Amino acid sequence: MKEYDFYKNPYLETGQYEVTKYITNAKDPKKIDLFFSNNIFYPGGGGQPRDTGSIIIDNTKFEILDSRKENDFIVLTIPKLENLPEKVTVKINLDRRKKLTIAHSSEHILFKVISSKFEDAKLIKINLDENVSEIFFESELFDPSFIKEIEQQANEIVQKKLPVASQFIPITKASEIKELRINKNRINEETIRIVKIGDFDVSACTGTHVTNTSEIPFIFVTNTNKSKNRIRLKFTNNIKLALEFASLSRDILIENNKQNLKEFVKNTINENQALKRDLRWLIKNIELFKQRNEETNVQKNNQILFLNLDDITKDLLNFIIKSLDRFILLSKINETNKAKIIIKGLSEEETKQIIDKLNLRGNLNKDIFQGVSENIGKEKIKRVLVETTKLELIQF
Ligand SMILES: [Zn+2]
Repeated sequence: MKEYDFYKNPYLETGQYEVTKYITNAKDPKKIDLFFSNNIFYPGGGGQPRDTGSIIIDNTKFEILDSRKENDFIVLTIPKLENLPEKVTVKINLDRRKKLTIAHSSEHILFKVISSKFEDAKLIKINLDENVSEIFFESELFDPSFIKEIEQQANEIVQKKLPVASQFIPITKASEIKELRINKNRINEETIRIVKIGDFDVSACTGTHVTNTSEIPFIFVTNTNKSKNRIRLKFTNNIKLALEFASLSRDILIENNKQNLKEFVKNTINENQALKRDLRWLIKNIELFKQRNEETNVQKNNQILFLNLDDITKDLLNFIIKSLDRFILLSKINETNKAKIIIKGLSEEETKQIIDKLNLRGNLNKDIFQGVSENIGKEKIKRVLVETTKLELIQF
């Protein structure tokens, strides 16, 4: 491992380099591989994609089609040419390089914060990108609800303007650095490069890094999901993307005339789940409603339906009241011990007796009672119902 120019200064846009050798590309004879002992072009590796750029020969640009590291050479592939010079100019897409460099240092900071908080966090791989980068890791302890705290701590590190420096050390010395983050399984070289971010973090790494954390504008976590013990965290340093998130939040608030987005989204999700569940119930029981509407059904005269649907939506409740002529409905209200009780289709006398025996509070309007009860078991209601009405109880 060598100190190439892309390590010495990550923000160099052009450089002149001697070509050690030219070899026709093994896969495509229309391309040629140029071998360099030094370069500004990052060939890719360790989760950081290769640079893009071109080789300039006599004022003509040739796009770099591919790159790799071979032994200690940086190998750049361009379309095949006759008469290649000994020295060429290499130009990289500096804007892209800057973004990837910032993303790489951000990844080190984020993962250090994560692994300090969740001791069992083990980095699997990273996938850096100009816009949204990804960190894949394993942790049983990781809890996504801490993401705001993690993001905040990472940004505090950024704001400390810590110097970032790299250094080459023999692999045998690695164990002497107590805090070093290193995956020895992936390293097969004698010399390793370590990247230090102030006194905050030190990690073995082959990528490019900022020279000071002040070059990172901010770190914004765009998403995180945990499936079993595998976590994928996405982040960006791109102000446009972060503002897109912010403006989406604002639009949702305005459109729905809400003050608090978090609460609104939580309620919307709950409501959506309740609607889905009620719809499923309705689909399953639609035959019941059809049957009840067939007047020839004489049986229903001595039956009462018992419906038990926790946290029922208003829509389904109204539909049931409208469609069924005799029923008692019990619906536990989420996160409380209370339950809604609706009774329809009994005589006034019977309804009043039930209200009395169950100690219910609510309104009796014509033959419909709507009320709320605390702590009443299903079985007790059924028993009182049968005792009072002598009707056959049909359960749904
Ligand atoms: Zn790295």
